[in-house]
Amino acid sequence: MARWGMAIDLAKCSACQACVVACQSENNIPCVPPEEARSGRILSWISLLPELEGEYPRLSMRLVPLPCLHCDNPPCILVCPVKATGINAEGTVHQIYPRCIGCRYCTTGCPYTRRMFNWYKPEFPGDLALALNPDVSVRPKGVVEKCTLCHHRLMQAREEAKAAKRPLAEGDYLPACAEVCPSGAITFGDLDDPASAVAQLARNPRAFRLLEDLGTKPKVFHLAEGEWSGGRGNQT
Ligand code: SF4
Repeated sequence: MARWGMAIDLAKCSACQACVVACQSENNIPCVPPEEARSGRILSWISLLPELEGEYPRLSMRLVPLPCLHCDNPPCILVCPVKATGINAEGTVHQIYPRCIGCRYCTTGCPYTRRMFNWYKPEFPGDLALALNPDVSVRPKGVVEKCTLCHHRLMQAREEAKAAKRPLAEGDYLPACAEVCPSGAITFGDLDDPASAVAQLARNPRAFRLLEDLGTKPKVFHLAEGEWSGGRGNQT
């Protein structure tokens, strides 16, 4: 049984947001109107969050890609009163949309703000409806949604491996964000396989887990750039 995890190398990430667009397209996430976006009401399962370093006026900023971290000890699950969210045998934290009553306790429980309340009635006018991914549901207004590690891709990869009469191999299953990253900053795979690329990166001295002191045990690792000297990003 695999335990799916991810490593995001901040030394390679150029903050191009290809992962954000790929996730939006793959998972039928609607684009909100511009006036709502200007108010910060953007629906997105993976975001590039700004991290500031230094003291004013010598501030540096970099952008850190942040999907749901699929914590091994997820606080979001504990607070759901209707059991609309859970963690499966492979460690992926899922959301059961028909059960969700939109109370948003889980969005408060997540210390990484990685859950999105779908306040927007999804609209895909004209030909946009033809571009929807048939393997992913279009969620109704009023539910909380989040990254699934493109679980539908795992199902498809399993079927293909079964048809070829072979076990699932490393690289058969990649979420859209990992597949599209042009700089190869996102590595995905089985953390329980010591030979996998992601497990090796998780043991890298540059690897760290966000807010580790909380005990949430994220399965998404970030790799620090090394000594941050303000060489990239905005500076004032
Ligand atoms: Fe839950 Fe947030 Fe952890 Fe994802 S990152 S498993 S939403 S606590």
